[in-house]
Amino acid sequence: MSQALLQALRAAIGADHVLTEGDLSAWELDWRKRYRGRALAVLRPADTAQVAAVLRACAAHGASVVPQGGNTGLVGGGVPDASGTQLLLSLTRLNRVRDIDRANLTLTAEAGCVLQAVQQAAADAGLLFPLSLAAEGSCTIGGNLATNAGGTQVLRFGNARELCLGLEVVTADGQVWDGLSGLRKDNTGYDLRDLFIGSEGTLGIITAATLKLSPLPAAVTTALAATASLEQCVALLGLAQARLGAALTGFEVMNRFSLDLVAQHFPALPQPLPQAAWTVLLEQSDSEGEQQARTRFEALLEAALEARVIDDAVVAESLTQSHGLWHLRESIPLAQAQEGPNIKHDIALPVSAIPAFCAATDAALARAFPGVRLVNFGHLGDGNLHYNVQAPDGQTAQAFMAQHEHAVNTLVYDAVCAVGGSISAEHGVGALKRDELAQRKSPVALQLMRAIKQALDPQGRLNPGRVL
Ligand code: FAD
Ligand code: ZN
Repeated sequence: MSQALLQALRAAIGADHVLTEGDLSAWELDWRKRYRGRALAVLRPADTAQVAAVLRACAAHGASVVPQGGNTGLVGGGVPDASGTQLLLSLTRLNRVRDIDRANLTLTAEAGCVLQAVQQAAADAGLLFPLSLAAEGSCTIGGNLATNAGGTQVLRFGNARELCLGLEVVTADGQVWDGLSGLRKDNTGYDLRDLFIGSEGTLGIITAATLKLSPLPAAVTTALAATASLEQCVALLGLAQARLGAALTGFEVMNRFSLDLVAQHFPALPQPLPQAAWTVLLEQSDSEGEQQARTRFEALLEAALEARVIDDAVVAESLTQSHGLWHLRESIPLAQAQEGPNIKHDIALPVSAIPAFCAATDAALARAFPGVRLVNFGHLGDGNLHYNVQAPDGQTAQAFMAQHEHAVNTLVYDAVCAVGGSISAEHGVGALKRDELAQRKSPVALQLMRAIKQALDPQGRLNPGRVL
């Protein structure tokens, strides 16, 4: 059976792009090195027609397909399982920017375009594609949309969903739905685009997208501020929103331990402020000139100092310094990876609930798992924290996780759900949170989701075992 399928796939996309031998770990092992699977073959189609041909061949042979972009996902959603029967469909050869429409402020890109290349293509046209995350040098626009990625600019521009106007999708049975529209208004029935966004490869294969662009800001200024508590971070956010309005494009928080990890693993990176309980990274993007923007930013920070909302602050003097501050923030996931595995929680809460949530949950974790360390950082402006639990000093990460991961998750997710929060803010469900979702989503929501899955993928061949 599988020989006949492989034969059909070779005919569809060329034998050179049906990989079955050699080291396939680039596709079979996830970024966090938590999920290692084995694929029947890695498929590398060149265009939408070839993706459709692959899906038709898989439908004819009853084979399962796992789509993959840059393989930077953090929930084990984009690698095959261990059965050796699933086909890993890599979209990275679909990497053309098809069109830029300056007047309509849109760009149409194929799914395998690396996010950074899309940002660059927009910038080359004098425009901005604002989606931005630390994996932007390798994640793809298809993966960003399939996971409805967030990142650092959501506060102003929204997540991937809000930056997408249209999609091209190959269905489970190999048909092509051309929904590549640059329309900002279109109320002709159910929104198919929004069904596929965030569906993590379980409803269809995204092959291209029409994306929303913005004018490039005239000036971008960045600052770091030191605060003594999360209450003060929330107060600073309110002050910044009131004074900067829509010009506030970034508001990230980092607890002391997360910056300690960066100092330990990347000692060459300058940390311009003395250690503080919480460090905030603020970014302002403005259509006004550099000088006006800087004056407004400095006035905000002075007011915050005077009101004792912050203890110290530094404004980047140059683009290089500004990149340095962002580099500090973006090095936290990498420093964690160097430190070894930890128990990750990508949670969303009402901003107003965050200080009390952290105070109570930090204390409950300390009681239940003495010595435990918290890498707590994230996008406070969107109410999204990466609330990661690291083994106590002296214990190996593996032993701690093997023994306590389930109990830690229960404690944290119970607390999240008690305040109406979400157990996945921006990374998705994948394999990692599938069982948690089944327990915590309402029966009605699960029933509706299963009905959608059944309608679009009745044989359950698209990324099986993920999300639902
Ligand atoms: P993959 O990892 O290849 O796939 C992710 C999921 O999408 C899988 O379920 C896969 O099956 C599916 N998929 C991929 N391509 C397609 C397609 N064309 N059609 C249908 N399904 C598809 N995420 C955030 O939201 N915000 C962050 O700030 C952030 N920071 C990160 C920082 C680092 C250092 C790393 C490693 C990851 C980070 N992530 C973040 C997670 C990850 O980068 C994003 O989820 C990203 O959007 C995934 O893109 P990808 O191309 O690598 O997708
Ligand atoms: Zn994030």
